[in-house]
Amino acid sequence: MLPLSVELGPLTHGRCTVCRALIPAVEDSNPGARMWARHLNYVDHLKQYHPEYRRWSRLWTYSFYLPVISIVIIAYFSAVERSLFLVLLAAIVVVALYVPLLLIRWRSVRVFREAWILFGKPKSRRE
Ligand SMILES: [Zn+2]
Repeated sequence: MLPLSVELGPLTHGRCTVCRALIPAVEDSNPGARMWARHLNYVDHLKQYHPEYRRWSRLWTYSFYLPVISIVIIAYFSAVERSLFLVLLAAIVVVALYVPLLLIRWRSVRVFREAWILFGKPKSRRE
């Protein structure tokens, strides 16, 4: 039997980001299937308890991928041109775009958590 607290990888949510409730694990001999099943359990949990957070998190994830496009373009040209300037530019773009994005996520998750603590319903699901 698989214990609930088993860590299945960085993409598998063992606990809810907002309310810290345990996300049920699913027994399967295939680790990929276990991770995917737990991810689906997490999505179900978000749909049921935190629909606003789910919508916001999806938008944030899309915005997280947008800078990748510009970074890939700069990295391609820096490889073609063998330019140190372009490598530095790519590094600056990474820092300038991702640091604010991560700060926004950190602050917003905190707001969602505080709202859940104040107004959230199923207290027994929280630990
Ligand atoms: Zn939750």
